[in-house]
Amino acid sequence: MHYTGPVFRPPPEADTPLLEITYGCSWNRCSFCTMYDGQKFGISPLEHIEEDLQELSRYYPKNLKRIFLVNGDAFALQAHRLLEIADLIHEYFPQIECITCYASIRNIKPKKLDDLKKLRKAGYNNFYMGIETAYDAALKQMRKGYTQSDEFEQLKKLEDAKITYNAIIMLGVAGKGNHQENAEQTIKLLNRFKPSMVLPMSTSVQNNTPLKEMLENGEFIIPTEREMLEEELMILENLQMDDDCLYFSGHIYNISRISQYFKYQEDIIEKLKKRIEEIDRSHPGLLDTVLSRGNL
Ligand code: SF4
Repeated sequence: MHYTGPVFRPPPEADTPLLEITYGCSWNRCSFCTMYDGQKFGISPLEHIEEDLQELSRYYPKNLKRIFLVNGDAFALQAHRLLEIADLIHEYFPQIECITCYASIRNIKPKKLDDLKKLRKAGYNNFYMGIETAYDAALKQMRKGYTQSDEFEQLKKLEDAKITYNAIIMLGVAGKGNHQENAEQTIKLLNRFKPSMVLPMSTSVQNNTPLKEMLENGEFIIPTEREMLEEELMILENLQMDDDCLYFSGHIYNISRISQYFKYQEDIIEKLKKRIEEIDRSHPGLLDTVLSRGNL
């Protein structure tokens, strides 16, 4: 397989074959991110993609239903290129139903609704979107390259094209003291554009990032573990998701990890409250600190 530099996929896609169509991230500027440090963005040649599909077809059944395209924002490619790639995928796996990948609001913006509809017809669906937040101040500080109004506009286009998405959100991303405003804005966005999955991730400040500099010069104050968990509780108590929307907090940065459908929302909330009580009992004071987390 042609895997260039670091390769990431969301935890729920552990059993899905990974096909490289890009490497690095076309943006690579988010304040907190170290995922593709030192890796330039690039587009995989079609010959490599075809060779990889040939290889995958030796290990996966012909009736494979799902494939994940790497890397950081594979949906950055232009629609015509993505359609060519879909044709190739269907040649080797004719029963593919879902071509998924990481996608950002920025990747959707230049695509017309018509293009999105064609991409949906070709199998593109169920994107993992690092929304992080819908709170403008935090979006700006995290250098996401879009605003809340972009999120509303672009998610509306996805909705019109009948493309579903999974929302990755960052707990604590707005910094100490701002969790309520942050949660409120994110809840508003997710309740309007209901994702198929909600994947929270605790904010972590990595070395050699703009966020680390902000932390050192006082522009960003990291909330404690308790504040992040309180934000998570607030989000959980106010989200109005469909019953079959999955809450997946299994990210390695989270100290509470739950995977359960929103049909059991009350149960998820109870589990999180119990987890907070357990930690307070077994490690008094721990939640009032900030744990250090390694680079991804
Ligand atoms: S968070 Fe995602 S979009 Fe931002 S730099 Fe990292 S990989 Fe790229």
